[in-house]
Amino acid sequence: MKVLINKREYQVLDSPCPHILVSTKKELHGWWPGKRECTSERMLINPYNGCSIGCFFCYSLAFPGNFQLFREKGIITVAKDFDKEVAHQLDSIDVASCGYLSPVTDPFQPINERYKISQKIIEEFVSRNIPIEFTTKARIPEDVIPLIKTQSHSFGQVSILTIREDLRKILVPRGASTKDLFQNLERLSRESIFAVCRIDPILPYITDKVKELEELIERAKSSGVTHIIASVLDIPLKIKKEVMECIGKFFGVGVKWDYQKLYRENIDGYLNAKIDYRKKLFDKLRNICERKNLTFALCMEYEIKGKEAVGLNKEFMSSCNCEGIDIPVYKREKDKFYPAANCNGNCLNCTEAKCGIQDLAMGKEGSKKSWRLKDYKRWSRELEEKSLSLF
Ligand code: SF4
Ligand code: SF4
Repeated sequence: MKVLINKREYQVLDSPCPHILVSTKKELHGWWPGKRECTSERMLINPYNGCSIGCFFCYSLAFPGNFQLFREKGIITVAKDFDKEVAHQLDSIDVASCGYLSPVTDPFQPINERYKISQKIIEEFVSRNIPIEFTTKARIPEDVIPLIKTQSHSFGQVSILTIREDLRKILVPRGASTKDLFQNLERLSRESIFAVCRIDPILPYITDKVKELEELIERAKSSGVTHIIASVLDIPLKIKKEVMECIGKFFGVGVKWDYQKLYRENIDGYLNAKIDYRKKLFDKLRNICERKNLTFALCMEYEIKGKEAVGLNKEFMSSCNCEGIDIPVYKREKDKFYPAANCNGNCLNCTEAKCGIQDLAMGKEGSKKSWRLKDYKRWSRELEEKSLSLF
């Protein structure tokens, strides 16, 4: 079979799931423009458009471009040789923030077994001593942990939505088993790699029983975790119909009806559960974490105040950075990168820019919040000029 994209034909390959190979020049970039809760800078990397793990609520199904190829035809777009492009881009900068693999789709989904682009990208980062993190609902491949271990600020996040394997099979059908997910956390912790447990997202009336969430948090703690991240499902308007249909199909018309009553808050095209519901749940989770001596943060949770969407982490986060780990920005010295002094990586609230890059200190009024590769190149030039002017 072939598909036509932008007047070009691509051969669809079948194994291990339908996909096409596309050469890419896409660039590393920071968080997207608009509202932001992520405290640290990241360089975002997404090797695969589409994810065969198959969560019915996956928000990437609402994304444009080749994500729609996956939604409509189930075909994943693989960024061929993306690791080489990433290597080239890393060699063009002298300032780097931690890489994030991936904010959009799962880096260890089945297609990665064939191409191992995620491992190759991790290798490009750690060989230059640049930190990198990943988030996954799959089993972490064996060769990833030794790679991550070589870079002291690199870490892993594992999403565990429920302790109930029967529910996990419905919600994350081709993800790792519940046992493997907790083992992911143990495997990271055993190697002294910072491990985060994400309960992300919590599905109201399906995975929101406080007793079960407390057990999940306890098991994460026993697996070596010290930081928990949570969010409540939001539903992109674009895929609302499909998501509601799945909720009706899997959990009954009563639950679907409850969702229709609960999901009333439209924040920038995403339907959110009512704020009272969310705040009550977050309060309970934060208290559980506090009692267990764990730090806690939310991911991309907002409430509407007046005409503005205001982040909820001010109220609920107990760590300095939302991911629970303080990672400085890194700077090049010859072939390798090293952490900037006196930086805790909390750019969103930083006013001092001890790193020397004023743009990054977003605690200041009116600072820009979204960065591209060209900004990293500009900061690199500015740092070079500053150091030359000292001689
Ligand atoms: S694992 Fe993540 S990216 Fe993949 S389908 Fe599920 S929610 Fe989407
Ligand atoms: S010093 Fe401040 S602005 Fe610079 S990287 Fe660190 S947290 Fe961000």
